[in-house]
Amino acid sequence: MSWTLMIHGGCGAMRPDRLPPETEAKAREGLNAALDAGEAILAAGGSALDAVEAAARVLEEDASFNAGRGSVLTADGAVELDAAIMDGRDRRAGAVAGLRTTRAPVSAARAAMENSPHVLLTYEQGDAFAAAHGIEQVANDFFITPERKTQLDAVMAAGGQFDTDIKFGTIGAVAVDAQGHVAAATSTGGLTAKRWGRIGDSPLIGAGTYADDRACAVSATGLGETFIRAVAGHQLAMRLLLSGEGLQDALDHVLADIGALGGTGGLIAVAPTGEAAWGFTTPGMYRAVAGSGRDRLVRVYDEGSER
Ligand code: ASP
Repeated sequence: MSWTLMIHGGCGAMRPDRLPPETEAKAREGLNAALDAGEAILAAGGSALDAVEAAARVLEEDASFNAGRGSVLTADGAVELDAAIMDGRDRRAGAVAGLRTTRAPVSAARAAMENSPHVLLTYEQGDAFAAAHGIEQVANDFFITPERKTQLDAVMAAGGQFDTDIKFGTIGAVAVDAQGHVAAATSTGGLTAKRWGRIGDSPLIGAGTYADDRACAVSATGLGETFIRAVAGHQLAMRLLLSGEGLQDALDHVLADIGALGGTGGLIAVAPTGEAAWGFTTPGMYRAVAGSGRDRLVRVYDEGSER
């Protein structure tokens, strides 16, 4: 059996003439490092679940992306982290939202899945749970970068409204392992200037993250509210399971549904067969794929047919 790992680092208005070459190079480096981490596990016969967690952790540590360090800031200038992980074998899932001190939110999500009877743990008590399970705690400042402060200032100066021209930088990973099992993970700081304890689609099972061995594993990036309303991840899985659509067609239909709700964004997905698909309604999406018997691809812009 073969394996496949696909990841994203968010989507948005990236165009070759607008993205500084150093920014693009750093993001590509981060995507490659995340593929390396997941690939080492999958090539050795490890599980999709371990691979998506490992890939997500690399991207959380990388300040190029809106997850972990380098996350966007809330209206009051803090970082609040959301993440989820799901195992397609048995649809066990874990998620965290509104964390402020947990360094590896995706691992906190996995701990919630494995060490609690619950799916979603939130805010201070979510951090306390992660700490109790040995996940490193840091001051909230650890996550904050000067670039994100500037971005928040710009959004606040424009009235606090989120500007969709600013890149969505959520990260995600989906994989199918050599045993044919799928898993998905997503991690994010959410949207710039979010408030009132806003939680996005990423930690909501069925919205921004979903995995089911009968269908696919999927991770989203984009305007979270529309992915929640479309139940995007679950919608994709159910299209495969119930309507007989192929993976790419089903994914394109879900993105069309997001568009009908006034949203923009992107999706990555793999099926237990090893088939992989991605799509986005923005000019670009940081994305990459590796697998046994396929060439590694790392892409930023819309480059036409690429699978
Ligand atoms: N989907 C994320 C959210 O709404 C944002 C992103 O993709 O960057 O929280």
